[in-house]
Amino acid sequence: MNEPNPTQGEASQPNKQYDEMPLHETLRRGVKEMGYTEPTPIQAKTIPQAVLGTDIIGTAQTGSGKTAAFLLPILERLLREPTGRIYALVLTPTRELALQAETFLKKLGRHTHLKGAAVYGGVGMEPQQRALRGGAEIIIATPGRLLDHMSRGYVDFRHLRILVLDEADRMLDMGFIPDVRDIVGRLPRNRQTMLFSATMPPEIVRLSREFLNNPRMIRMEEKTVAAAGVSHRAILVEANRKTSILSDLLRQEGMDSVLVFTKTKHRADRLSFQLQKMGVRAGVIHGDKSQSQRVRALEAFRNGSQRVLIATDIAARGIDVEGISHVINYDVPHEAATYVHRVGRTARAQKEGDAISLVSREEQDDFDRIEQFIGMAIARENKTDPNAAPQAPMGRFSQPRHRPGVRPPPRHRYQHKF
Ligand code: AMP
Repeated sequence: MNEPNPTQGEASQPNKQYDEMPLHETLRRGVKEMGYTEPTPIQAKTIPQAVLGTDIIGTAQTGSGKTAAFLLPILERLLREPTGRIYALVLTPTRELALQAETFLKKLGRHTHLKGAAVYGGVGMEPQQRALRGGAEIIIATPGRLLDHMSRGYVDFRHLRILVLDEADRMLDMGFIPDVRDIVGRLPRNRQTMLFSATMPPEIVRLSREFLNNPRMIRMEEKTVAAAGVSHRAILVEANRKTSILSDLLRQEGMDSVLVFTKTKHRADRLSFQLQKMGVRAGVIHGDKSQSQRVRALEAFRNGSQRVLIATDIAARGIDVEGISHVINYDVPHEAATYVHRVGRTARAQKEGDAISLVSREEQDDFDRIEQFIGMAIARENKTDPNAAPQAPMGRFSQPRHRPGVRPPPRHRYQHKF
């Protein structure tokens, strides 16, 4: 394939309104009924190119409106096709994302004859089998489950015209790339391919060389995405006091819909248990929960009956909940890009939200890197306990080594606590 030409896609385009976009009237109605008044930047740049059948590499986060950016052109391109054949396939890393895209598709395409189906693991094969046997024109699938179906022989992709790889970097993180290769190898070569990814690690660049043909690059700056509408702050605290600080925070006014991130499933479960003991109820969502538990937790969070949801990064990828007031990083992510993903859960689609990070001393280096990455200094409030064991001076995180009148603790504590 030819190398991507970044200048082509990035050519400055006016921020078109939906009415000026090359979209059929029925789709514009769908868009209006979703309550979207104007296209997000990724939609404004992607839709006019994608309806022409051009291959696209889009670097955009969840929260940017990228799902509609690829679903609308798919619908537009298939409007005149007869039913009963699979014309488009969207590969996505998680079942939550698949379900979310299917929901958007139903709404955006409600005035068309086109049908979508979500295909993902953890639930029965039968209804999905019907969709794959010709019941739906647009399939949104996680790679593993789709391969299961393909190996049974009834999936006919001969008419496939459009392939979307959604959140390609996350599929890479989750080890799905061999499955993706396997699937793409069995699709018609004469097709349009769109790849969306928040970041562009070398493996994804290689993959796009393999799968795409003369693609347009459409870049949404990560920094802008992280900064837009989100107010960031950090609370410096000892690792062992994070839960009580969090419980205080959760009792504050305005904490209406709070998504709390931990770095492991175990820590998510433990945190919910500890919070419960402190009188704060929280739902939990992570990869070890069954599909029905995840759906229930998400639904309770979405309808407001559960104000707090604790999540791990992978589980949170598919969470599309309107009006999350706060994202709290109980654990600071190691990767700066993960911070951007997390805070992107609040302030979605140009609304406002707060991101609060509880930063222990051990996490300070990671946090410094996050600031560099998003290109802004984040206000830090020091809530470390001055009576706790003193610590070595550490830049802005430093505590007085020894307060007058407070006896320094025994020497060995210096090494383990701060
Ligand atoms: P996505 O990045 O596709 O996960 O979308 C993030 C959120 O933005 C979803 O809740 C969409 O419903 C919403 N959204 C997408 N496009 C628009 C738009 N043009 N105006 C307002 N909200 C939008």
